[in-house]
Amino acid sequence: MDQPIFRFAPSPNGELHLGHAFSALMTQQIAQANDGKILLRVEDIDTIRCTPEGTIQMLDDLDWVGFSWDEEPRNQSDHFDDYAKALEKLRSDGLVYPCFCSRNQIKSNANGEKDPDGAPLYPGTCKHMSQYDREKRMQDADAFAWRLDMDKAIEKVGDLTWQELSEDFTEVETVKANPAAWGDVILARKFTPTSYHLSVVVDDADQNITHVTRGKDLYFATAVHRVLQALLELPEPKYLHHGLILDDEGKKLSKSKKSLSLAALRKRGWTPEQIRVQLELEEEEDLDENGD
Ligand SMILES: [Zn+2]
Repeated sequence: MDQPIFRFAPSPNGELHLGHAFSALMTQQIAQANDGKILLRVEDIDTIRCTPEGTIQMLDDLDWVGFSWDEEPRNQSDHFDDYAKALEKLRSDGLVYPCFCSRNQIKSNANGEKDPDGAPLYPGTCKHMSQYDREKRMQDADAFAWRLDMDKAIEKVGDLTWQELSEDFTEVETVKANPAAWGDVILARKFTPTSYHLSVVVDDADQNITHVTRGKDLYFATAVHRVLQALLELPEPKYLHHGLILDDEGKKLSKSKKSLSLAALRKRGWTPEQIRVQLELEEEEDLDENGD
């Protein structure tokens, strides 16, 4: 078997927290246990919220907590041309269309239907527009989004599945993908040639990622990624969606909660070892070198 290639792909749009440390260190443990390579990807397509300083801080936090990676990190901001090329292929295959709806318009037209993330499901308002109207509005609009025509996409690629690994890597489950639940997802915007969904599949293929480890919050999004991989004729990695680190109220940690950021814990005197114990990635007695 070829060497497995793993990746950790954080976004430098705020301080990393315990949830990121868990995902990074868990990926590292699995990679080491399987003689794998581990790559770092900086997901900085949001050029307003992601700054070079943020990236430097992020790499420093990762280094501090004991995460190490092979090869130079890949910055998504260096690859806008690659995403634009992928979008162009989908466009020339007639699989994307421009959408001019505002958030509020989508909300009021959505009939209460929600996507797997709980956001209003896009009702397809702009799907059937004449070519003339489309081109005119694209010229005039300050902003618009490129959406995937999910019905057409599913018709083209048929039923899809993905391979989901257990955390100990011993079991594989074949999961039936349900991309229709997402409706016509956004793949790019007028001035940003990509979205999370599009860049992640392009990057995973470019970096030859064989195993995608990430949080369960992205479990259902895998269906969209499988569709894009099939449409763009990209290889299919295996997936492992791990549990999330929750706050005291049982909610997913977010970057807006500064209290549990790695930088804040570091300032308060935490050690990387204490963080690994807190995340249950290391046994507490390992810390106590002299026993008692
Ligand atoms: Zn629309």
